[in-house]
Amino acid sequence: MSADPVSSNAWLRLRGHEALPATAELSWRPARGRFTRAVLILIGCWALAPALFFIPPHLPWVVLAVGGGIYLAIRQWRGEYVVGRFSGECPRCRAALAVTSGTRIRLPHLINCFHCHHEPTLEVTAEATSSPARTG
Ligand SMILES: [Zn+2]
Repeated sequence: MSADPVSSNAWLRLRGHEALPATAELSWRPARGRFTRAVLILIGCWALAPALFFIPPHLPWVVLAVGGGIYLAIRQWRGEYVVGRFSGECPRCRAALAVTSGTRIRLPHLINCFHCHHEPTLEVTAEATSSPARTG
């Protein structure tokens, strides 16, 4: 369902600081696959809701299944890329930033720096790739 990993030119940008290069291996997820997964998750969670109604205290489980289905479906739909590998430093404090392998992201992606509590933006300019990469 995912394309080949894309080795890209990645940049970490933070307003008022010089952009730093980063290394990101991203696999593009086609819209058709994302849509299919989102719909299946939505159907699955919503189909579960009537059965959960019979478990006391009844209503919270139904609300959780309906709301959780919407939340998970939106996450599936918005995750345009899967992170294979990432390494980069915060443009402000130079602390190593982390993005867990397997995370689904949409570009540009905000990454929390737990050292200085700012959010640098990961931007990718893909070269020689068929996948659409957006910048800024
Ligand atoms: Zn930082």
